[in-house]
Amino acid sequence: MFTQMEYNGVSDLSLHQDPITGLHAIIAIHSTALGPAIGGCRFIEYPTTNDAIQDALRLAKGMSYKAALAGLPHGGGKSVIIKPNKPFDRTALMRSFGCFVEQLNGRYITAMDSGTLTTDMDVIAESSRWVSCTSADGDPSAFTSLGVIEGIKAAVRHLFGKDNLEGIRVSIQGLGHVGMAVASHLSMEGAHLTVTDINTQRMRIAIEEFNAKAVSTEDIYAADVDIFCPCGLGAILNHKTIPLIKAQIIAGSANNQLLEPQDGYALAQKGILYLPDYVINSGGLIFVALAHANEDQQTIYHQVLNIGHTLTRLFTESQASGIPPFILANQQAEAILANAASLSKTHQRSIV
Ligand code: NAD
Repeated sequence: MFTQMEYNGVSDLSLHQDPITGLHAIIAIHSTALGPAIGGCRFIEYPTTNDAIQDALRLAKGMSYKAALAGLPHGGGKSVIIKPNKPFDRTALMRSFGCFVEQLNGRYITAMDSGTLTTDMDVIAESSRWVSCTSADGDPSAFTSLGVIEGIKAAVRHLFGKDNLEGIRVSIQGLGHVGMAVASHLSMEGAHLTVTDINTQRMRIAIEEFNAKAVSTEDIYAADVDIFCPCGLGAILNHKTIPLIKAQIIAGSANNQLLEPQDGYALAQKGILYLPDYVINSGGLIFVALAHANEDQQTIYHQVLNIGHTLTRLFTESQASGIPPFILANQQAEAILANAASLSKTHQRSIV
């Protein structure tokens, strides 16, 4: 366990079980150097407890990088409630999880993630102050999709020297909360869409409402488009799919799009501009953090628009240095975290 924590740079790992509700939950805190750790709570089934722990550890690190580059005063954390494989009382589980979050006394702030809903956050809020995305706050997806659109516009400006999306051809993988909103926005701005989803109902909506061309889940990679926008699954950029891709830009919301870091280099070698996933999809986290800080929608909106500026800066630095944007993003996030950690150590020493 300690080796896994060390590998992911995670400082704290808390496990909690409650025999009354059947709760088995994990909270991983990667860093609190910039501020309280923040990140969603997953409520899904796992083959083993170790898989659940691994997921929390890996995701917590990603949240630290995302918060650092988004300029948020937060470290990264992630929690997992292992979905029981027998009947359970969802409300009781969430309430018990809220008590677990509260025990950490603000070191970790939880929010929605795969398998959790705003109504779950309402229940957690009954027993903890450290929660965002309640029904009063809302769902972060709208802000995630806004960030994706800003990222796409920044990439189009950088690579094609174009200030609008008229006639730009975009393929979208996954028409869920984020993908459908992105499709709607792109279509309004005059982009031509090619889409796929395992859910045929969602495909039908995109065909009817956005005049999208539908392709199979296998054919999406080779679609003849300018931009590929992955909004479904992780690890979809790999040695099998990269040779098929015709798009010049990859810009989507899915987390952990690269199977391995070398896949990012393979994209760069092919001359494809890959927008680091945790930068372009940080609109949701910006919303989660600022909603928890009681900021208004206008303030959140403006901070999400900054995603486009951050990406433009990365493109320019990448052009000057020859280092791909995803590596630059990692380097910059690590520098921000290291600087914050050394400042906090100096501060602790001065208190002693
Ligand atoms: P979602 O579950 O609402 O949508 C995912 C969609 O992908 C679904 O419609 C699903 O049917 C489809 N899908 C699943 N397997 C597929 C396949 N093989 N091929 C094509 N489509 C497939 O999720 P979401 O909230 O829209 O998030 C999309 C992605 O963005 C996820 O990777 C998520 O982790 C990431 N993300 C989301 C947010 C957010 O605010 N929702 C924030 C940051 C990152």
